[in-house]
Amino acid sequence: MNAPNAVAETPVFADRPELLRLSGVDKVFGGEVVALKDLNLDVRQGDFMSLLGPSGCGKSTALRIIADLLHPTRGTVEWAGGHTKDDLGVVFQEPTLMPWATVSKNVYLPFRLRGKSYNSVRDDILEVLKLVGLEKFQNAYPRELSGGMKMRVSIARAMVTRPRLILMDEPFAALDEITRFKLNNDLLALKSKINCTVIFVTHSVFESVFLSDRIVVMAARPGRVLREVQVDAPYPRDEVFRTSAEYAAHCRAASDALHEAMEV
Ligand code: ADP
Ligand code: MG
Repeated sequence: MNAPNAVAETPVFADRPELLRLSGVDKVFGGEVVALKDLNLDVRQGDFMSLLGPSGCGKSTALRIIADLLHPTRGTVEWAGGHTKDDLGVVFQEPTLMPWATVSKNVYLPFRLRGKSYNSVRDDILEVLKLVGLEKFQNAYPRELSGGMKMRVSIARAMVTRPRLILMDEPFAALDEITRFKLNNDLLALKSKINCTVIFVTHSVFESVFLSDRIVVMAARPGRVLREVQVDAPYPRDEVFRTSAEYAAHCRAASDALHEAMEV
């Protein structure tokens, strides 16, 4: 294994097929706010990629462009291998559940939007609820759930169609640390079960190192990629990794890069 501070000789993702490529992407709001300037990103199948950077560096804008919720002012987003933007699930910081619908009916939403009947996907819904540990709460309403449980429902909803790519925008930022650690562990287990790619926005060094194998460090004004930090520690990762010297060294490397991003 490479020393955490050394530049890896072979990138951890080198043998993964390409999924998505952003080339020369600019996003200008209202003709003057340059949210992104010349963003280049190659996302590969199976990556756990974090976008790490200070507030306002364009992380959410990048995610929204990938999700096709925003159009770039310049540049392109290209999907490889026949994948499309329909092959993704999105999790935002707020769980955004429908308060009038039960947990299962909330998780049903992406199927409903695809015109599928509830009965035809009932088993998929139950299975994903089991994966997030909420099978006993399938008939509960969002108001009966804790913040962490609501976020689990939101993750289940994003994953129920088994998309190739999951986009997550600071999903755990509002949760307490214990719940956040637990959800970090569960997210890694889920990712390996459904075998997807994740792009995860965070401003937490610790979270990005625990979860990711690629950390894209961004700087603000204008929003851009400063550099990439690779975490070549094997998965599964658990509490042993979280308390290891290796983890601490990776956190130092990511933290240095983040400080650099805040000073430029
Ligand atoms: P981050 O998610 O990294 O905090 P954002 O992508 O939300 O950053 O924002 C990047 C920059 O673009 C910020 O300066 C923000 O104020 C600006 N911005 C984001 N969305 C809009 C919008 N809809 N209209 C105008 N400015 C925006
Ligand atoms: Mg944001």
